[in-house]
Amino acid sequence: MPDSFRTRAVHAGRHDLTELGVHAPPLDYSSTYPISSLEEGVVSIDSFIEGKAEAKNPIYSRLFNPTVGRWEQGVCELEGGSSGVAFGSGMAATTAALMAMRVVGMGDGRARNHVVAVRPLYGGTDHLLASGLLGLEVTWASVDQIAQSIRPDTGLVWIETPANPTLSVVDIKAACEAAGDIPVIVDNTFSTPILQRPLELGAGLVLHSATKFLGGHGDVLAGIVVTKDETWASALRQVRILTGAVLHPQAAWLLHRSLPTLPLRVGQAQSNAIEVCVWLREQSSINKVMFPDQDKTALGQMDGPGSLIAFEVDGGFEAAAKLINHVKLCVPAVSLGSCDSLIQHPAGLTHRVLSDEARLEGGITEGLVRLSVGIENAKDIIADLDQALSG
Ligand code: PLP
Repeated sequence: MPDSFRTRAVHAGRHDLTELGVHAPPLDYSSTYPISSLEEGVVSIDSFIEGKAEAKNPIYSRLFNPTVGRWEQGVCELEGGSSGVAFGSGMAATTAALMAMRVVGMGDGRARNHVVAVRPLYGGTDHLLASGLLGLEVTWASVDQIAQSIRPDTGLVWIETPANPTLSVVDIKAACEAAGDIPVIVDNTFSTPILQRPLELGAGLVLHSATKFLGGHGDVLAGIVVTKDETWASALRQVRILTGAVLHPQAAWLLHRSLPTLPLRVGQAQSNAIEVCVWLREQSSINKVMFPDQDKTALGQMDGPGSLIAFEVDGGFEAAAKLINHVKLCVPAVSLGSCDSLIQHPAGLTHRVLSDEARLEGGITEGLVRLSVGIENAKDIIADLDQALSG
């Protein structure tokens, strides 16, 4: 993490507060905003129709909300973008990015109907792409195959690194080079900007399920896309207005409250995960531990391995079920990046919707368990896993 990050996380998106005469960001629940004149209303609404971030008058909360705008600004500062566009969940952000690709195509007259994607991806993302629900075509590729997979109508290259659930690492710079002028979107949910900043490595867009580390307390669903490209930012905002996939201001307020502690939470969870990983690697009942602490590409592009660990228990589904059903401290639940440790079975839960072929391609076996290490004492997490494995 760059030295200044703790300071930046504390102050991100809060620059106007002193001028406003408040210490905490105001929570604005308004669904509509009175106009001071009809002329002001017309000028403001024209700005939103064009995809601008703000206008003199917010008009209506689906077009702009100042509490949401402040949190977007905060995340944007940490990712090094010029615009952040918030959504009601990570999947809403994913859907919006895919639809924004079409809007960008309408703007410059080159139709974009095709995505190149690298597996594994979060189950919902994989399913959305593979299902054809949005009328898009997808080519699944390894990083080496990206360049040859690009077509005249390709609009995005989609990668997730480290990927959910196997922690496999994609070389972001190599993917961007292979993609040429097609923007690469990186799902940075597992790393957060504290450990990895894809825009600095050449990515066009960064996406988060902010439900995870950015929220950090398991009490909010949210998503965000950050970019330096204002054409894309406008397209994303236009899609948000049309689809209504907005983030509620209360959720944005909670997310903004979580931002100052992000580096502390990510740092503590990571040092716990390093300890838990050492212990897991010593267990004879565990066949394989996946954690990007020794991966050359990960070491080159990340400031640390993070706090997600995947491991394969000996004995497939039954052994995984025995472990997950017997934990007492770790919480048997999907999701990740919370203060508490969460343990789950990707083949049975988060990636169940995938075809057998897609699961196999992504290395998601019946014995695979995913652990999101929390900020508890590492020894307590290890003791819990120990009793559950041997219980
Ligand atoms: N991206 C990743 C890497 C995820 O793990 C998830 C959810 O688990 C999503 C996207 C979707 O986010 P949400 O659940 O907030 O819709």
